Amino acid sequence: MSTRRKSIVAGNWKMNLDAAKARSLTEAVAARAGEAANVDLVLCPPALYATTVAAALGLAAGSSPSGVAPSGVALGGQNSHDKESGAFTGEVAPGMLRDIGSRYCILGHSERRTLFGETDKVVNAKVKAVLATGLTPIVCVGESLEERESGRTEAVVTEQVLGSLAGISADDLAKIVVAYEPVWAIGTGKVATPQQAQDVHALVRSLLARLSSPTVADKIRIQYGGSVKPDNAAELAACPDIDGALVGGASLKADDFLAIAKAFG
Ligand code: PEP
Repeated sequence: MSTRRKSIVAGNWKMNLDAAKARSLTEAVAARAGEAANVDLVLCPPALYATTVAAALGLAAGSSPSGVAPSGVALGGQNSHDKESGAFTGEVAPGMLRDIGSRYCILGHSERRTLFGETDKVVNAKVKAVLATGLTPIVCVGESLEERESGRTEAVVTEQVLGSLAGISADDLAKIVVAYEPVWAIGTGKVATPQQAQDVHALVRSLLARLSSPTVADKIRIQYGGSVKPDNAAELAACPDIDGALVGGASLKADDFLAIAKAFG
C-alpha cells in the first residue's frame, strides 16, 4: 500500500440483519475501532436501519458529511437515486443519506448491475449526484467469471471505469473511492489471488490517470472486494495498489471485520 493513501475498509451488510442486530454490530465495531485507528472504517447498512446505525455511531441527524462520528466509524449507503426528490417510489435520495450523517455511498455494486439492470450510464448519473451532495461515492467495477475466462477482464473493467466516471472533473475524481470486485469472487469464497487483484488495481489506477492525471490517480483509493476474510486480508493489503477492502459476508461479524481492518492498518 502506498504510504500516501490511508486505507479504507467498508462493510456492505447488503439485505441482512434486523434493527437489534444492526445496533449491536455497530456498537461492537465502534467500541473497538481504535484497534484499526490508521484505517477509515465505514458501515453500509440496509437503508431502513441507517438511522439506527447513525444513532449507535453518535451521528446527529443533519450532521455534515465531513463530520466524523465520535467512534471514528463512518456511515455509508448501499445505493442512491440520482435525483434529490420526486415520484420515485421506494428510492433513497443522496441528500437523505447525507441528512442522516452518511459520508459514503456504494454505487454500481455488481448486484445492482446484474439484478437491477444498472448500466454504466445509470451509475455515472448516480456518481455525479452523490458527489454533488458532498458524499464520497464508492464506485464498484468488476468482471464476471465468463468475462475473465474469455480474456476480457481488462476490456470490461476499462469500459466500466470510463463509463461510470465519464464527465467527472479531476477535482471530483480525487474525492472518490473505487472498489474492484470480481463478480466471481463475491460471496463465493473464491478470492482473487493478490497478483490478479494487483494487476486490475494497477489497470484501474492507469485509467484514473487517463481521466485526470497521474498525480490525482495516485491519491485515489482503490479497494478490493470479493470474499475478503481475516485469513486472506494481509496478502491483499501487501499489494501496492490495494488501499482497503469492501467486505460483504465477513462484515457481519465484528471480530472478522475488525481483523480485516487491522490487516490494512
Ligand atoms: C460485496 O458484496 O461487496 C462483497 C465483496 O461480498 P463478499 O465479501 O461476501 O464476497
